[in-house]
Amino acid sequence: MPLPRLRDGFRFGGERVSFGSFQRGIHRSQLQRGPAALTVMTSFKDPYADAFDQGGALFTYAYRSGSIDQADNRALRAAYELETPLVYFRALEPGQYLVVAPMFVTADDPTARLVVLEPGLPVQDMQPGGLISGPDVRAYATREARYRLHQQRFKLDVMRAYRHRCAICTLRERELIQAAHIVPDVEADGIAAVVNGLALCAIHHLAFDRNLLGIDPDGVVHIATRLLREIDGPMLRTGLQGFHGKEIAQPRREEQRPDVERLQARFERFVIAAA
Ligand SMILES: [Zn+2]
Repeated sequence: MPLPRLRDGFRFGGERVSFGSFQRGIHRSQLQRGPAALTVMTSFKDPYADAFDQGGALFTYAYRSGSIDQADNRALRAAYELETPLVYFRALEPGQYLVVAPMFVTADDPTARLVVLEPGLPVQDMQPGGLISGPDVRAYATREARYRLHQQRFKLDVMRAYRHRCAICTLRERELIQAAHIVPDVEADGIAAVVNGLALCAIHHLAFDRNLLGIDPDGVVHIATRLLREIDGPMLRTGLQGFHGKEIAQPRREEQRPDVERLQARFERFVIAAA
């Protein structure tokens, strides 16, 4: 979600409630009666205040620097003691946030000056009465949040590597360009990393997913024989058949280019499906 939309906040009881300043990480609204934080977010001033433990399954969030007992840190600990839900804005890149809500502070470590954040499920946890979902529900919600985080990061990384252009037709219309997985993300090799990604326009993405279009390990486009034989208007002729045998446009930086083994694995499926 982009920053300008977040700055607007939301309306409650006829008043506008801000989601926070987006300068400080921990926010408690002036309109709140309770002491607990309403939102936490990756701070511009201290971008390392929040971390995600890749190996484990936990979001951690650091206290604000300075006294443990300063107002922001008290609001964070109040959210832990009262088990009240908060909204977590996780920075994906400057000005872009992943929103996770409801989020709960489920552990507090004053010595390490950090708290553990765990997502809950909206239907259960937005009722009054604090944290009601069990650890299994939170583990599920954490996996979901982690998945969304990785997919959002993947999308941004792929778009940047390909400069928002379709690797096949070089179309650069942001509304029509998507981040495609080379090996589908439901599979073990289908990692959400730029080497398993391609920026494709909507039509080439769908054609790739449906095996009507393949990309071989050398980056050459193949159009399924069935489509090559068809006769139709300019979309088929120019938009699909015209790219048969052409090379895709790859990112300048080598470490961002598609992984050859993944292209190979994916291309073998195309060959079988298109036969
Ligand atoms: Zn395209």
